Amino acid sequence: MSAGLPAALGFSTVAAAVSRLAAEARNDSTVPGEKMTVLIVGSTALDSIRTPGGERDRLLGGSASYAAVAASYFAPVRMVGVVGDDFPSRYLALYRRRGIDLTGLQRQRGTTFHWAGEYEANMNRRRTLRTELGVFEHFRPDLPSDYRHTPMVLLGNIAPALQQHVLDQMERPRWVAADTMDLWLQTARQDLLRLLRRVDLFILNDSEAAELTGELNVVAGLPRLHALGPRFVIVKKGEHGAILSGPGGLFVMPAYPLRRVVDPTGAGDTFAGALMGFLAVSRGDWETRLRRAMVYGAVVASFCCEGFGLTRLSRLDRKAIEARVAQLKRMTRF
Ligand code: AMP
Repeated sequence: MSAGLPAALGFSTVAAAVSRLAAEARNDSTVPGEKMTVLIVGSTALDSIRTPGGERDRLLGGSASYAAVAASYFAPVRMVGVVGDDFPSRYLALYRRRGIDLTGLQRQRGTTFHWAGEYEANMNRRRTLRTELGVFEHFRPDLPSDYRHTPMVLLGNIAPALQQHVLDQMERPRWVAADTMDLWLQTARQDLLRLLRRVDLFILNDSEAAELTGELNVVAGLPRLHALGPRFVIVKKGEHGAILSGPGGLFVMPAYPLRRVVDPTGAGDTFAGALMGFLAVSRGDWETRLRRAMVYGAVVASFCCEGFGLTRLSRLDRKAIEARVAQLKRMTRF
């Protein structure tokens, strides 16, 4: 009998406790020492990026790439996505170096999703120059059977119908977070609204929140976002940080202040990925865990902005992350 069970318990109580422990071992964060796995779905892309400081062609990109690499610093990660036969093997090697499970990464004949974007001088404004869907056009994120029991799910930015398809295949996930982008508010709003009824945490940026709620003041718009379904909402405000809203009220978090931003592409996906990775391995009530997870999300996103694509993000370690978390703590203590 497990050392954790008091000897005085009656048989039926013990049986119930054993079955509860077994369920937890499959599906819960409360089992000591168990690391919870994070399933991440999103785009896997080749990005061409132009900033005032430089230009790079066909870098590794996509919401799933950023989120999965960021989460991998904290928890085991399973990725769901699709790449074409032009996808460089060095990018697959990068995923593997980060220990990411690629069973759910489909490889198809054709070209990988290609996105090209350009930043203006202040780096807060971005223009999409090109989007070539390639194999992404007919992507159906069917899950390998052993992915279906993954306790933590991050529905990264892709069409909400695909995010729903992933959720439909999951068996009682413990925590579901969803990210989105302005495109889906304009082209797939009904799908997005259906999805939101099924998620625990909705992550979006301030302009998306305004578009979805019709309310320009983020704080005033929060009740309307909760009314769509999610118990927790995080509104990101770029270099000005993010706000968490939940049953316990608001939590306000600054961004880690950077002297120089090289390329902010993927910072939002990185924030979401690191947040989910940290949530997966932390203990306690969701509200406290979420607050701390947001700090880790902000710190890992700050590293992401210091290099083009995933160049800086993919070369981190926990020591560098913890050092910046400590700095951010010092900067916000009063
Ligand atoms: P972010 O800077 O957080 O908005 O994320 C940028 C990433 O999103 C880039 O790596 C792109 O490849 C990816 N991306 C751009 N447009 C789309 C789209 N329509 N669907 C999915 N991913 C996209």
